[in-house]
Amino acid sequence: MRHMNKILALCAFLVVSLFIWSFIPTSGVPIIAYHRVNDDHEIYSVSPTEFDGQMRYLAERGYTAVSLAELINAREGKGNLPDKPIVITFDDGYADNLLNALPILEKYRLKATVFIISSSVGQETYLTWDQIRELQARQTEIGSHTASHAALSELELQGRESEVRTSKGVLEQQLGTPVEFLAYPFGKYDAAMPDILQQAGYRGACTGVTGLNFIATNQYLLKRVNVPQPKYDLWEFRARLLRAHLYAKFGM
Ligand SMILES: [Zn+2]
Repeated sequence: MRHMNKILALCAFLVVSLFIWSFIPTSGVPIIAYHRVNDDHEIYSVSPTEFDGQMRYLAERGYTAVSLAELINAREGKGNLPDKPIVITFDDGYADNLLNALPILEKYRLKATVFIISSSVGQETYLTWDQIRELQARQTEIGSHTASHAALSELELQGRESEVRTSKGVLEQQLGTPVEFLAYPFGKYDAAMPDILQQAGYRGACTGVTGLNFIATNQYLLKRVNVPQPKYDLWEFRARLLRAHLYAKFGM
């Protein structure tokens, strides 16, 4: 019986230790993935009120938003990251990123990265070239989300190269600055993509895989924290950040 008590005490000690360990912060950097900020009540629409609450939470928790260029520069020894860095990204390039999200980001001194589908620019609900230039002038980093929002892993090599090179070329020509990062449409990629992107001149890419990013994370397979329309207010946002942290803790 005394033996049994010792085993139970040891088990309890291990469970409590694991619990405490799982909440110790890591050096992993979260990259948040948004799409739209509006009142559409669609799966990928976060309302401006919810978005304001989420950005206020990040600012109050001491996060500093950095660009993907700053994140990758630091990995390559070309700069340092602030304490509690975070990257805030938007996929697809909707006009509401400028009209609704940017004023809130600026209110909390946060900045973001917007991934543009080059063939969608100027179409209804999407950003125009002038609006993308305005985003850029107001601290937003611009990346590629391919030319036509194709699922890259479902294309042959030539099609993949065309998607990533065409979008990069068009964006750079219109904006006059290097475009070095890409987000995979539908989060779809395979083992061939890092080489294809590197040869096309990209320095990194974001997947839809949940987790945080460490020095050891392949920079062409960066993990993100996806934030669709929340069902449970700020708690859900906090839970999504915590889930990414726990995945990182347990090496997932
Ligand atoms: Zn997309």
